[in-house]
Amino acid sequence: MTERRPLWIDGQPVSGAGERADINPSDTADTIAVHAEAGRAEAEAAIAAAKAAAPAWALSGPQTRHDILKTAGDEILARRDEIGRLLAREEGKTLKEGIGETVRAGQVFLFFAGETLRQTGDVLPSVRPGIEVQVTREPVGAVGVITPWNFPMAIPAWKIAPALAHGNTVVFKPAELVPGCAWAMTEILHRAGLPPGVLNLVTGPGRVVGQAMLDAPALDAITFTGSTATGRLIAEACVRHHRKFQLEMGGKNPLVVLDDADLDLAVAAALDGAFFSTGQRCTASSRLIVTEGIHNRFVERLAEAMRALTVDDALKPGTEIGPVVDETQLAQNLRYLDIARAEGGNLRAGGERLSRATEGFYLSPALITDTTPAMTINREEVFGPIASVLRVPDYEAALNAANDTEFGLSAGICTSSLKHASHFRRHVEAGMVMVNLPTAGVDYHVPFGGRKRSSFGPREQGAYAREFFTTVKTAYTRPG
Ligand code: ADP
Repeated sequence: MTERRPLWIDGQPVSGAGERADINPSDTADTIAVHAEAGRAEAEAAIAAAKAAAPAWALSGPQTRHDILKTAGDEILARRDEIGRLLAREEGKTLKEGIGETVRAGQVFLFFAGETLRQTGDVLPSVRPGIEVQVTREPVGAVGVITPWNFPMAIPAWKIAPALAHGNTVVFKPAELVPGCAWAMTEILHRAGLPPGVLNLVTGPGRVVGQAMLDAPALDAITFTGSTATGRLIAEACVRHHRKFQLEMGGKNPLVVLDDADLDLAVAAALDGAFFSTGQRCTASSRLIVTEGIHNRFVERLAEAMRALTVDDALKPGTEIGPVVDETQLAQNLRYLDIARAEGGNLRAGGERLSRATEGFYLSPALITDTTPAMTINREEVFGPIASVLRVPDYEAALNAANDTEFGLSAGICTSSLKHASHFRRHVEAGMVMVNLPTAGVDYHVPFGGRKRSSFGPREQGAYAREFFTTVKTAYTRPG
């Protein structure tokens, strides 16, 4: 029998305005569960509950918050295989990737459990004698968390954990395609001891539930990861409401390969960065910028490695690339491949819809060569297992090509030259730089975020997360 999952408002399971089946992209005959979907009324109730719970939670103290986040983190880690399996079944990344992401979510909760005990402030003398100055941090209040489908455990974890750690309450709206992981995380946090209203789950459509969050004056801040178009809507609404916001959006991340690169390492970095997690990562290496002397060998070796990848059911042992997340995304990938060919690119490998034992959204990883910077494939984010190759004469041209984009999330370079690596680290326009590493794959204790149209607002993750989830107060006191 198919399980039915409710919303979670003010500490109670609540049925929604509608329902949506959670479908396995590796096997569309497999319905994982049926989830309640919030309408505007449920979204407004969740926002009111978060607002009402905010003052008490702000004063709950570090030990209470530590213990809840630690208990939740420990449970997520203990259940890594089961939740990782749910993630892979729901989103389509491989079981290994799903378990890895679940472990990451657990680690993030444990990190922020620690952050609750690492609160800092300053006490300092005023420039006016006899007066003391205190600089402290306070929670922002009730925070809206709007997340995408591609990292259904890790991204909610790295927004919800710091929000709660720093004393905020949360209205959580996950992407429509991944309600299962969102429900699992919410349920774990409630059992770990969260008081009613501190975390409210409103699964449902962006244009209804998300819009209700944008319209609500009661939300004090919104943190978002998703498309550039939705990010712009969120920014406009938050400016109208004088509300704090943080956006993580698209990428068109370059991986530069210079003549002096270790070829094995460069091919491995490109293969991982461009195609693992089915290329559905905002940090994916979607533009491979390769200098003349190594170009042909690199393309040859990469195409060979791509053809050897096993594309199949995400849960099947041996699968290296799972399906694309849904039919719409697959159609978009195929459309970008058509455009790339029509504009003069060569499809060197992959790019075909594949049939497997079960009905799913399978696409062989695709490599487009002989592209130019002006082509659509080098300008727009595809968000699938597709990479383009740009051939350039030298390092200077490679750096220019890397920066020739409106995005600036992650950028990589493969080289054995310290001079070029150092110059690239300093001059590439990106929030994150990788030397001899894939553009994707980050740590959780250091800042995450980009420049240009990729991001807006303070960085996420690590200690830097406090910039968004707290507000600074400066107090002046004349004792006595
Ligand atoms: P993607 O292309 O990754 O699906 P979206 O920006 O469409 O990116 O989705 C990211 C998140 O934003 C999802 O949770 C989605 O439901 C939500 N969303 C989409 N449209 C809106 C909107 N108009 N207002 C608020 N949230 C939205």
